[in-house]
Amino acid sequence: MYDVIIIGAGVVGCSTAYWLSQYKMSIALLETHNDVANAATKANSGCMHAGYDPEPGSLMAKYNVEGSIMAKELCQKLDVPYDNCGSLVLAYNQDDIQTLQDLYQRGQQNGVKDLYVLDEKQTRELEPLLNKKVVGSLYAKTGAIIDPWQFAIALAEVAVENGVDLKLSNEVQSITKEDGIFIVSTNKDQYQCKYIINAAGVYSDVVHEMIGKKEFTIIPVRGQYYLLDKNEGEKVKHILFQCPSKLGKGVAVCPTVHGNMIVGPDAEMVEFEDLATTAKALNYIKERSILTMDCINFRENIRNFAGIRARSDRGDFIIEESKSVENFYNLAGMASPALTAACAIGYHVIDWLNTKEKFTRKENYQETRKKVRFKDLSFEQKNELVAKNPAYGKIVCRCEHVTEGEILDCFNSPIPPKSMDAIKRRTNAGMGRCQSGFCGERVAMILKEKLNIEFNEVLLDKEGSNILMNKAKEGEY
Ligand SMILES: Cc1cc2nc3c(=O)[nH]c(=O)nc-3n(C[C@H](O)[C@H](O)[C@H](O)COP(=O)(O)OP(=O)(O)OC[C@H]3O[C@@H](n4cnc5c(N)ncnc54)[C@H](O)[C@@H]3O)c2cc1C
Repeated sequence: MYDVIIIGAGVVGCSTAYWLSQYKMSIALLETHNDVANAATKANSGCMHAGYDPEPGSLMAKYNVEGSIMAKELCQKLDVPYDNCGSLVLAYNQDDIQTLQDLYQRGQQNGVKDLYVLDEKQTRELEPLLNKKVVGSLYAKTGAIIDPWQFAIALAEVAVENGVDLKLSNEVQSITKEDGIFIVSTNKDQYQCKYIINAAGVYSDVVHEMIGKKEFTIIPVRGQYYLLDKNEGEKVKHILFQCPSKLGKGVAVCPTVHGNMIVGPDAEMVEFEDLATTAKALNYIKERSILTMDCINFRENIRNFAGIRARSDRGDFIIEESKSVENFYNLAGMASPALTAACAIGYHVIDWLNTKEKFTRKENYQETRKKVRFKDLSFEQKNELVAKNPAYGKIVCRCEHVTEGEILDCFNSPIPPKSMDAIKRRTNAGMGRCQSGFCGERVAMILKEKLNIEFNEVLLDKEGSNILMNKAKEGEY
């Protein structure tokens, strides 16, 4: 029996596992998919919001501001790409300038540091390629960008090192309670525990209602994106938001930690898993982005994708013990800014548990993680590494400069990859301009060899995403 079962290995579940793994308790992290960070956590803007946007007094405001401060240090400890690039909310007229003042005041109330309202000249000094219509901005120095899936993977890897049992491909299907003990049944097995942390993202209401009464509803809201190649990435230095107005929240134009430019998202209510991209939404995003910069070359687009926000009907995060089931805690309604807030949300879960029984810290636990990123090393460091292990001398992904050594490292990590996209999330192989056109075959080959499987069993990503179906004729695939 476990002390705690966490349901859902997105960034919120992984952060909870990371912090709880520092305490003397047994923990299982159950996840439907074959990898962590494989839902909203892998498909978002990757922005660490400063915290001027949420309503003062809301849970979003509290955890956003705390999370944005914590994430900076945590990313350093976990060797996760993080860039404190700052953000600008762009104004186009006097009404917008008033909105910036309101956002500034809100930021002050929320405790956001280093916020400034800038005039046109100051704004253009920071971001020279802005649309000529921009007349000012709200500058948040604490705004940052991160690699969101690396963040969750790193949190989960350290949690596993500290003893958390990660059960991938385990979809929770029912929950009952007998004599104060939860019985959690998945498609694979049955587990028992004293406490449940529900971090099931867009399904968190469904999971809660497996045992509890209806207390909230999750509304899935899809957002779509363009991901542009690195020469476009050079055009933007800060996270650029458009001032919210009666036309809506606009779209963001941001740099990514990998050097690309990302443009989006829109907001559209959809069915749970509808991750389709549509011409209508992408055209809208392209047209709206012109207000930010009219020099974006969309011919440099290398990928479109969509993510689903788990918006709650309360308009705020739901971070509370269930009212109908004792010892069942909901971390739900995790729409934006939950990527920013996740580390603070997970950090405080122990406070709840310690009101029920006293969990003490372990004498020894791991807090950090280190990764080899070959392309970031100096010439001397590269030579030294290749001399030790020639696999680092073989470039597999030419666009992102990823070596065979780095890909092989993943298989010795606490959460080895089971698919090509899992390798991509861990190493960046396949993330570049050719989108794995050149390296895909080599990555598939490594996966086949390391997992000791047939070629037609190699997955692109989730279960069922086999890259090959059948042999076309006798012989090799
Ligand atoms: C378009 C978009 C843009 C965003 N931009 C930002 C941003 O810039 N900054 C920011 O701070 N936030 C942003 N967000 C929000 C942020 O991405 C999410 O809030 C965050 O990733 C949510 O993490 P999570 O762990 O709650 O959910 P998820 O990452 O969705 O993880 C939930 C997990 O639970 C699992 N699960 C569900 N049901 C079960 C079950 N029955 N059994 C087992 N496992 C289950 C799922 O498979 C999934 O892996 C954005 C979101 C979207 C969609």
